[in-house]
Amino acid sequence: MTQEKYSGIMVFAEQQERKIHPVTYELLGKARELEKESNQDIMALVLGPEDMDLQPLIERGADRVYHITGELFNRPDELIYKENIVPLLQEIRSAIVLIGATTFGRSLAPRIAAAMDTGLTADCTDLQMDEDGKLVQIRPAFTENILAHIKTKTYPQMATIRYREFSSPPPKTGRQGEVVTRKPSVIRQDRVEILEKISMQEANIAEAEVIVAGGRGVKKARDFDILKGLAEALGGTIGASRDVIDAGFLPKAHQVGYSGHRVKPRLYIACGISGAPQHKAGMKESETIVAINTDPSAPIFSIADIGIVGDWYEVIPKLLEKLKK
Ligand SMILES: Cc1cc2nc3c(=O)[nH]c(=O)nc-3n(C[C@H](O)[C@H](O)[C@H](O)COP(=O)(O)OP(=O)(O)OC[C@H]3O[C@@H](n4cnc5c(N)ncnc54)[C@H](O)[C@@H]3O)c2cc1C
Repeated sequence: MTQEKYSGIMVFAEQQERKIHPVTYELLGKARELEKESNQDIMALVLGPEDMDLQPLIERGADRVYHITGELFNRPDELIYKENIVPLLQEIRSAIVLIGATTFGRSLAPRIAAAMDTGLTADCTDLQMDEDGKLVQIRPAFTENILAHIKTKTYPQMATIRYREFSSPPPKTGRQGEVVTRKPSVIRQDRVEILEKISMQEANIAEAEVIVAGGRGVKKARDFDILKGLAEALGGTIGASRDVIDAGFLPKAHQVGYSGHRVKPRLYIACGISGAPQHKAGMKESETIVAINTDPSAPIFSIADIGIVGDWYEVIPKLLEKLKK
């Protein structure tokens, strides 16, 4: 299919209990930037209950919102989503489809790409338009050593982008847009049953203002209680390097890094973390980094604003004591 037959940038708007995931607004902001170079319509696609408030999508940049209505979309069933999204994309022929790299988005995007026989670039860190109006999908490769610039020959050009990679544009109150409502074309409901809802640890770490993180310098799983004590005293949450996640000390939702979460808190305290490139990739954008490590040559010190050469088992209790005073 030739490029001329495709036009517009479609942003998938993930919702949970009618609440739009904030990565959607970041993607709409980026779509508006791309639009300046390519003059295309910006569209949002949301699957959810009829009474959802879609105005925030318009205020953040969508010219048109496609709303496939149904309570069934309250279940995170990628197959039902895919089966309803693909016919719409085939009809609309948007040139670009952007999806947030959330847990759900990461599972949904490849299914859509496979069904549409097109490519997908996962976990992009930037997007640009080239002089021919093609999407340049930029992402780290070889564990962040190079930035790959990827173009897709097939359409739509699809990419997933992590939460907090782009900033969210301020809403333009009263901005006008069109809402196109559709009934679902596929309504099978029997594949996912919600047994229990547990709190979203994932959202906590990505949005946390303060993260106290531990690495292999934390000897036992229960020692994380000490770090948790400090995190709570500072109104934050706990994070970890991959090695301690692999050791089973904490759930994967706490992993910071290349294959975990990319975080940008105001304060990141790294305890017993050496600072491998894959860990730094996830936290180097933090506003203030404090590193506590017994090894003065640990690479984490190269990006730390405050470096403490010492045993965190001694430093953290002292810090807590001071905080309590
Ligand atoms: C494809 C790929 C993806 C990866 N993704 C990730 C990722 O997302 N996140 C991630 O973290 N890693 C990731 N890794 C693993 C990464 O390469 C490192 O192995 C890992 O980050 C090391 O974890 P660490 O710093 O906890 O352990 P180590 O490197 O073993 O460091 C432990 C540090 O603790 C210090 N220490 C020991 N005792 C104390 C003490 N009492 N007080 C203070 N300091 C102490 C030591 O001096 C040392 O510097 C990935 C690797 C690959 C190949």
